[in-house]
Amino acid sequence: MIVDLQNISRSPRQFDLTFQPDWWREGSGDIQIGGLEGPLGVKLTVSRDGERFIMNGRLGGQLRLVCDRCLETYAFSLSHDFRLSLALPESWESIEDETELKIEDLGVGFISTTKIDLDDIIREQIYLALPIKALCENTCAGLCSRCGVNLNQEPCRCSGNSGHPAFLKLKELPIR
Ligand SMILES: [Zn+2]
Ligand SMILES: [Zn+2]
Repeated sequence: MIVDLQNISRSPRQFDLTFQPDWWREGSGDIQIGGLEGPLGVKLTVSRDGERFIMNGRLGGQLRLVCDRCLETYAFSLSHDFRLSLALPESWESIEDETELKIEDLGVGFISTTKIDLDDIIREQIYLALPIKALCENTCAGLCSRCGVNLNQEPCRCSGNSGHPAFLKLKELPIR
């Protein structure tokens, strides 16, 4: 969805959007995201502050993520707030004069045109909201590094007689 910031004034403009699961297009870097589990709700407020455009947003919904340990997909509840400050490069100088701060210290994002694509911004925010480690459960047992079975679903097939000979003796000890 394209929004022209040119039409945004000081009084905030509200957007209340819902993205259906088919909105998610697979990108090249999507090793972690398997898509949307259900509709994604997006609330946005956009206003102008001098030469800057301020965007406040809230994302809510469920993503399908790939577990880092067992590689199965699972539902992840996404709840993410963000705030962006955007400006055209030609207005950076006047912003710095006005605020007496460097543009980089203001955290102003670069836009090349006032016509911005909300889909791109929301997509980027989804990536920023991802957990550092995606786990289906904190207790996920993962995959066996030898036979590759999902240890959450079945016992490992190679735990019998394999292993380094030095450790085989240990296996004979009674387990208390
Ligand atoms: Zn897992
Ligand atoms: Zn195994």
